[in-house]
Amino acid sequence: MASLARLRELPKLTTRPVGRLHCDLDDWDFDPRYTDGACPICGWRPDYEAVPRPAWLETLDRVPWDYVSLGVVFCVLAALGVIVGLAAHINLATR
Ligand SMILES: [Zn+2]
Repeated sequence: MASLARLRELPKLTTRPVGRLHCDLDDWDFDPRYTDGACPICGWRPDYEAVPRPAWLETLDRVPWDYVSLGVVFCVLAALGVIVGLAAHINLATR
């Protein structure tokens, strides 16, 4: 039954489909958000649990994004400091 329908718009990245689904039994497109995840005509449901989450997404979830963004802010502010220092003719190497 699950092979009769397919996801159309988004790749299978999440456990719950987003976007429109197509039911091949009755050739009907529907939005699972408004039909409680099932085809409104025949009641077919896609197999949510059979869609595995990719490994790169699991790795991405483990990255400490707050520290990464803090490092990016530090680098941007250091670059701005160098630009302002060059514009003000401040040479830190001779002092
Ligand atoms: Zn259907």
